[in-house]
Amino acid sequence: MPVSPAAAALHYGQIVFEGLKAHPTAEGLKLFRPEAHHSRLVESCQRLAMPAPPWETFSAALRLTIANEPATTGVYLRPVVMAWENFLGVRAAALYRFFVIGCPATTYFGSPLHQGGNAAGLRLVTENQWVRAAIGGTGAVKTPGNYAASLAAAENAKKQGYHDVLWLDAKHRRFVEEAGAMNIFFRVDDTLVTPALQGSILNGVTRQSVLRMAQDLGITVAERPIAIEELADHFNQGRFTEAFGTGTAAGVVPIAEIAHAGQSIFRDAGESSEQAKPRWAGLLRERLQKIQTGQIEMSW
Ligand SMILES: *Cc1c(COP(=O)(O)O)cnc(C)c1O
Repeated sequence: MPVSPAAAALHYGQIVFEGLKAHPTAEGLKLFRPEAHHSRLVESCQRLAMPAPPWETFSAALRLTIANEPATTGVYLRPVVMAWENFLGVRAAALYRFFVIGCPATTYFGSPLHQGGNAAGLRLVTENQWVRAAIGGTGAVKTPGNYAASLAAAENAKKQGYHDVLWLDAKHRRFVEEAGAMNIFFRVDDTLVTPALQGSILNGVTRQSVLRMAQDLGITVAERPIAIEELADHFNQGRFTEAFGTGTAAGVVPIAEIAHAGQSIFRDAGESSEQAKPRWAGLLRERLQKIQTGQIEMSW
């Protein structure tokens, strides 16, 4: 698929993508919540003044991509819409392409994060110089520019020995937004808290699914702003005991440590600690996998 160097997408960033998976089930490969991914693609395209493929085109393209794949491993699917017009002026392009890339979905369990005991997980550090997104901007849009704006901070975090950045809000630099390119959840007392969507946070399909599954399991959930100092206080009082990230690529990923302003403000105590309750991350990850592979029936 040769791309012109003058393709408008390369200059002004009119590109939107999605990321979803097809999972092996007894009845073959099954797409997980493609309607939710299509809705988000439509919203992303609207924000960037782009047309979106209708549902029929979107779902037909996904089905074609996996049609000849064996249902032995999962398939990661990457639908993309990009401005295709060769034009250097600044305006919405008049021509677009929609395509889908498919590749084998590697499971997350082989990764080092899931080895070495229960306290294994992501180590995150807050970013104090840069922000990922501001309210009114494109933080809720799945577009490459957001990733480009986040990479330097991620590289800095890695140089400091962390896996990724914990993003704070652009205005107050206090409220937690996302864990790298994943949504984030905290267990505070016995409530599952996640930052409320206010326009700067990506509306993750895994996030929505985790909220729904938690409610089905009888867990109280809260979507609200949550400040980094609040988390530090709750941790010191023994009330904040667990954190995890969510996203299609990695599923539900435990967070082992959060550092802020040169200090560790959260450390996972591990399941062997006196708090012997089962971890919500593990419960939710397993339930999600069972739903995705057809072992638990679920209508969203
Ligand atoms: C894609 C993405 C997520 C996770 O969304 P899912 O629909 O759960 O895969 C979270 N944050 C960012 C910035 C993303 O791009």
